[in-house]
Amino acid sequence: MRIDFNKNNDGLVPAIIQDATTKTVLMLGYMNEEAFTKTQSLKKVTFFSRSKQRLWTKGEESGNYLNLVDYKVDCDHDTLLIQVNPEGPTCHKGTDTCWAEDNLPHYGFLTTLERVIDERKNLADKDNSYVSSLFDKGINKIAQKVGEEAVEVVIEAKDENEDLFLNESADLLFHYLILLRAKGYNLDNVVDVLNKRHQ
Ligand code: AMP
Ligand code: ZN
Ligand code: ZN
Ligand code: ZN
Repeated sequence: MRIDFNKNNDGLVPAIIQDATTKTVLMLGYMNEEAFTKTQSLKKVTFFSRSKQRLWTKGEESGNYLNLVDYKVDCDHDTLLIQVNPEGPTCHKGTDTCWAEDNLPHYGFLTTLERVIDERKNLADKDNSYVSSLFDKGINKIAQKVGEEAVEVVIEAKDENEDLFLNESADLLFHYLILLRAKGYNLDNVVDVLNKRHQ
C-alpha cells in the first residue's frame, strides 16, 4: 500500500493510534518510512519522535508498548490509522488515552445501555422502572429471567421468523447486561476474559 511520506516535505505522516478492541483513540504520533517499517517488523508501534529526533518505540522506557494489530491508510494516502493492543496506559501521564476525560472502554450503544441500567439500579423510586424493579427482586430472579430469554432465543432459532429471533436476542442481551451489573460486573470484565483467551 502506497503511503505519501513527503506531503509535508519532512518525511513524516501522522499516525492515529486506536485500541483495536474498543476503538478508543489512544494517541497521535508521527512516522517516517523507517519508523513504519520497524513498526511492522517489531509488531510494536514505533514513531519518529520530533522532540528526540530519532526512532522512538512507544514503551521503550515504560514498558507500555502498543502491540500492532492492523493498520489502514486514509483516502489520500497521507495519514495512518494504527490499531493496537495497548500494554498498560498509553499516555505518559498515566491515563489510558492522551485525551483523558473518558478512558473507559466504549462498546458503542451497549455502553450507553450499561449506563442507563446503572442509573436505574440507583434510582430511589423503583416503582416506575422495569429495570429498577428487577434489581429489587434480586440476583436469582434476574438470572432466571436471563435463562428464560435464552430459551426463547433457542426456540426462535428453529423458526423462520427472523424478526422474532432478533427481538429475543435483544431481550437476552439486555437481561444479561442487567445480570452482569447485579453481580457487580460489566461487559468490560467479560471482554477481558475473551481477550486473554485470544492472546
Ligand atoms: P515510553 O515510550 O512509554 O517508554 O515513554 C518514554 C517517554 O516518551 C516519556 O517519558 C514521555 O516523554 C514520552 N511519551 C510517552 N508516551 C507518550 C505519549 N502518549 N504522548 C507523548 N509523549 C509520550
Ligand atoms: Zn489524508
Ligand atoms: Zn499523553
Ligand atoms: Zn423475550
